[in-house]
Amino acid sequence: MSSDGHAALFRGQRRGVLIPLSSPSGAGKTTLSKRLLAQNPDIVLSVSTTTRQPRPGEQHGVDYYFTDEATFMQQVEEGAFFEWAKVFDHYYGTPKAPVMEAIEEGRDVVFDIDWQGAQAIAEQAAEDTVRVFILPPSLALLEDRLKKRGQDSSEIIDGRMARAKSEIEHWSEYDYVIVNDDFARALEKLNLILHAERWKRSRHPWLDGFVQALMDE
Ligand code: 5GP
Repeated sequence: MSSDGHAALFRGQRRGVLIPLSSPSGAGKTTLSKRLLAQNPDIVLSVSTTTRQPRPGEQHGVDYYFTDEATFMQQVEEGAFFEWAKVFDHYYGTPKAPVMEAIEEGRDVVFDIDWQGAQAIAEQAAEDTVRVFILPPSLALLEDRLKKRGQDSSEIIDGRMARAKSEIEHWSEYDYVIVNDDFARALEKLNLILHAERWKRSRHPWLDGFVQALMDE
């Protein structure tokens, strides 16, 4: 045995962590996930496929892969989606191949997704998934942020607030819940969760061989 022990021989790739990140809209999830990605080169953002039309400013391959219903259904048949759902009038799906590759190659995947999508991902890959929910410090603050976003009518704002409340109702299904009252602290918590989860035993399958070699000395 070399002076480094067995580690050099056995230390291998960890499995990537799947992180569905949910929150009511306006709670800061998008900014948080962008900063998390900028700070961690081993994380990728999952880009979903959808049959809805792009909104102004949205880019194919960045915000979504935009497609038609026939193509979407063909991809469903082929088993191309990790999970998929119909939300309102359109179909949404998480492409499977990039997720599986990331897990095997030790890269983590963040999903900007609502509670139903988060639940589907957790069902598909329970061991690999860590669900994180972002809460606003108050609903009044959330309403303020939604109002500042544009010149939406009060009906639209009311609709968004109702949707925000129905999303928050699912908070207890998540492994971690972060109250975003201070952006820097919320980002730090998200980083701590990710870094601890990376060390979970089940994400280091090479340990089996390493410990076996230790015991055989
Ligand atoms: P939007 O059209 O506003 O971008 O998204 C509408 C809803 O679809 C959101 O609640 C979003 O979380 C959900 N969604 C986006 N991508 C996916 C996906 O890949 N799978 C599932 N199940 N839902 C998604």
